[in-house]
Amino acid sequence: MKTEVLIAGAGPTGLVLACELARRGVVCLVAERDAEPFAGARGKGLQPRTLEVFEDLGVLERVLELGGAYPPIRAEIDGETVFTGHMDEPKEATADVPYPNGWMLPQWRTGLILRERLAELGGSVTPNAELVSFTQDGDGVTAVLRVDGTEREVRAKYLVGADGGRSTVRRALDVAFVGETHEEERALLGDVRAEGLDPAFWHMWPQGGGGENPFPVTLCPLAGTDTFQLVLPSPPGTAAEPTLEVFQEAVDRAAGPGRIKLTELVWSSVFRPNIRMAERFRVGRVFLAGDAAHVHSPAGGQGLNTGVQDAYNLGWKLAAVLRGADGELLDSYEAERLPVAADVLGISSALHQKLRDKAPDAHRRDDPRLRQLTLGYPAGPLSVERRTAPTEPYAGDRAPDAVTGPSRERLFPLIHTGTPMLLAFGPAAARVAQSVAPASSVVIGSPAFADEEGTAHAAYGVTPGENALFIIRPDGYLGLVTDSPDEAETTAYLTRLSPQTQNALKG
Ligand SMILES: Cc1cc2nc3c(=O)[nH]c(=O)nc-3n(C[C@H](O)[C@H](O)[C@H](O)COP(=O)(O)OP(=O)(O)OC[C@H]3O[C@@H](n4cnc5c(N)ncnc54)[C@H](O)[C@@H]3O)c2cc1C
Repeated sequence: MKTEVLIAGAGPTGLVLACELARRGVVCLVAERDAEPFAGARGKGLQPRTLEVFEDLGVLERVLELGGAYPPIRAEIDGETVFTGHMDEPKEATADVPYPNGWMLPQWRTGLILRERLAELGGSVTPNAELVSFTQDGDGVTAVLRVDGTEREVRAKYLVGADGGRSTVRRALDVAFVGETHEEERALLGDVRAEGLDPAFWHMWPQGGGGENPFPVTLCPLAGTDTFQLVLPSPPGTAAEPTLEVFQEAVDRAAGPGRIKLTELVWSSVFRPNIRMAERFRVGRVFLAGDAAHVHSPAGGQGLNTGVQDAYNLGWKLAAVLRGADGELLDSYEAERLPVAADVLGISSALHQKLRDKAPDAHRRDDPRLRQLTLGYPAGPLSVERRTAPTEPYAGDRAPDAVTGPSRERLFPLIHTGTPMLLAFGPAAARVAQSVAPASSVVIGSPAFADEEGTAHAAYGVTPGENALFIIRPDGYLGLVTDSPDEAETTAYLTRLSPQTQNALKG
């Protein structure tokens, strides 16, 4: 078998990557060890930046239709409500941030939506296909897959290990996974049906299992379903398995006997907080992404979201290099994503420590960094800041949204095209943009985006009349930013990002 990109693992990371490649016409094989799609609600919290990525991928409508906002928390101790409130106060959308709040969607549903999108784009997942081993040479990767029990050889130009925390790919590369695993904080996870529980609240019993284990007992109504996600700290030194009986006993202990009746266990699992990061995200033609590259404490809901961002960063680069861009573009994946993953890991670990310390604000999730909108690559190799007096947003930052006119038409659909885009303010910038790449240019102030309310000028920090040219990368970050636009420099930068700026996307 031959393919351009072999992706090991059809979790959220592998699926986003597959969609990104499929919509650019790259042939990829998504090998998934399991026979059936993942069935748990596990990573249910989608961050605002992920919603923006999902909008670009064409799945946001389904995500919004099938998910829901986070309900308020109701915490109880000894039958008394001790706290009612949100983890983070809901915010209003603004012109530059269309989705300011996190959104809940059970992970199984995110997976199904992405699989559906992949099929629309002409791709698919090969189930029962476990990556067993591989070798690489100067021209590609030869991998052995066990498909339906039979070993098959696959030749690919690149391999991406999106195969989760226990990644076979990472182990085969012998890349160290540095960090900690907290056996003493073992927890049981179950998606359950229940009677006697108000689905308008995320129920918490902060005293949890007691002892060393920092987790509260929680029952969170899963948006768009009739189930709850139950997290139960496993009492220290015990190895209770996640059965309905074990869950019922724990809920009786936490909430009081006979109050809540668990009627069905739909899915269950055991987890131990694992806080680790791979020392490298790339070895030659092999990349690591998502949990294969970094695993987080569930506190803060960052793991799945960070994996989505890895895939969104890598997909367009792989496609560009496969279609003729300079291979150095791929070096920027690790250079950009490793520091971001390290930062995110620091944030989720600090939240985890608050749980351990039983800090009074341990439930708060109001650190703006959790929304992943402020993450970017200003120090990365693709960020070129050429302004004499730069202001926010800087090269490497997320390109903000804006709205125009009475119809409130948004900028995002114009600049999220999956290809590099030029955003021009002022006549000199407009001239360069239209001369270099007219079909990939948005001139602010032109009929396409009149900016009557000045939201684009405000979001991009440009004074009306001033010249500024922003080259927006295919993943929606600012690449080159200049106040003295130049055709040769613009063309050279675009060529670095993509051999064909005008390559139309599918779907
Ligand atoms: C209790 C809990 C709550 C969480 N809550 C959140 C949250 O709110 N928000 C958030 O962002 N994250 C959350 N997470 C984390 C999130 O679930 C993970 O980060 C996410 O699943 C990672 O996605 P992934 O695609 O990288 O890996 P996975 O989802 O692990 O997918 C890897 C896939 O690879 C397959 N595979 C493994 N080995 C092979 C092989 N050799 N060959 C082929 N296929 C293979 C597996 O079967 C699997 O399908 C939570 C985690 C836990 C435990």
